[in-house]
Amino acid sequence: MHPDTTSAAAIFRNPAGTKGKGRYAADLEDADRCVHCGMCLPQCPTYVLQRVEGDSPRGRLTLMQGLAQGQLQPDSPTLRRHIQGCLGCRSCEVVCPARVPFGALMDRTRAILAERPGGSSRVREHLFGPIRNLALRRRSLRRTGALAARMARALGLRHLLPRSTRLGRMLRHTAPALVAAPERPTGNAGRTPDVRLFTGCMDAFFTGPDAAAAIDLLQRLGLDVDLPAGQVCCGALDQHLGRPAEATALLQENARAFPAADTPIVALDSGCEAQLCEHADADFRARVTSLTGFLSQLPLEDFAWREEPIRIALHLPCTLRNVTRETDAITRLFRRLPGVEVMAAVPPNNCCGAAGTAMLTQPEIADTLGRETLDALQVHRPDVIVSPNVGCSVHLRALQQDSPGAPRLLSPARFLCERLAPAVPQQGPDRRLPG
Ligand code: SF4
Ligand code: SF4
Repeated sequence: MHPDTTSAAAIFRNPAGTKGKGRYAADLEDADRCVHCGMCLPQCPTYVLQRVEGDSPRGRLTLMQGLAQGQLQPDSPTLRRHIQGCLGCRSCEVVCPARVPFGALMDRTRAILAERPGGSSRVREHLFGPIRNLALRRRSLRRTGALAARMARALGLRHLLPRSTRLGRMLRHTAPALVAAPERPTGNAGRTPDVRLFTGCMDAFFTGPDAAAAIDLLQRLGLDVDLPAGQVCCGALDQHLGRPAEATALLQENARAFPAADTPIVALDSGCEAQLCEHADADFRARVTSLTGFLSQLPLEDFAWREEPIRIALHLPCTLRNVTRETDAITRLFRRLPGVEVMAAVPPNNCCGAAGTAMLTQPEIADTLGRETLDALQVHRPDVIVSPNVGCSVHLRALQQDSPGAPRLLSPARFLCERLAPAVPQQGPDRRLPG
């Protein structure tokens, strides 16, 4: 038997194990808070689908303990497979009676694994790491990449590459969500704006119309909007792939891009908001809110909204439920709008499968979870699906290709912009801003 399998099996049989101190004991000591009660198991999408202990939160924590105690090494294939298989949904964390900080432990474990990447990962990191780091910072580079992706779509390159290759899957999966990037609006020079938008790094690829809709919506509500030019990626991608130093560097750049003033920072994506709320410094964090959280504090009833009936299925992503915990607020906001009937839906297995890069790296699990999520969202035949997360939206749009006649999938910004009646009343209300 493979020695690595033996040690992992021994760890699962005897979770308490022989306590010892390994090199990573301090980093992973919180894994010892797990009391192995198993309450997290039914909440875990990878365990529910695979029924393998190593693919459960408890099993992953046991492997982390093995790493902490020196029983497993970072290059253990078993350890790597089960740790990399986690979708990072954190549904385990919210039900855990022992308050195990699973998300933070997973980030630390991945950082340890990233210090010693395997053969192909090392080559990939060497080749593409510097380009990725630049792209997360430079909008011009992302626009070039997005242009290349749209040209590849127009030329049908995705049909030339096998689905089984990472690039083939990426081109096929993202093609339906690719959009042209709009021009960046100019700010209101010299004036302190009412609100500053954090648009994330996907605007050149997928979310340009969402940012444009958010600006249009806020301006029609009578607010001055700024889109700080120096903003970069929120750092979530680096954080969850085991590159905390790079994530911190991005947060520091963002702190410089958003001048320290008492102006709310509205993050358009729940994944970015979650990263900023957990990892930015206290001053920045206190100013961050979601678009719907920001709007919920305005007197929306004083504005003219379209009134024809519409049924929306509101998708509640993992970051919204398990990190920012804004599910009630977003649902209440949509219910305040005239004519809007809201059906809020949690993915049946707690995650739609998009999970950062998992929609590309774990296609079978991602597509199974995504189809279950779409079925749940469409069960009451809504007119529109609204999702506040770009990754989930890209993944679900890709799967919607198999369902002709599926409802449109919109961001909150685009849906709300469409529902605001074209003409704002002459006698507008006083503007009441949060905080
Ligand atoms: S719910 Fe918490 S304590 Fe119980 S097995 Fe899961 S992680 Fe461990
Ligand atoms: S974060 Fe999600 S996928 Fe990972 S162990 Fe927890 S419940 Fe399972």
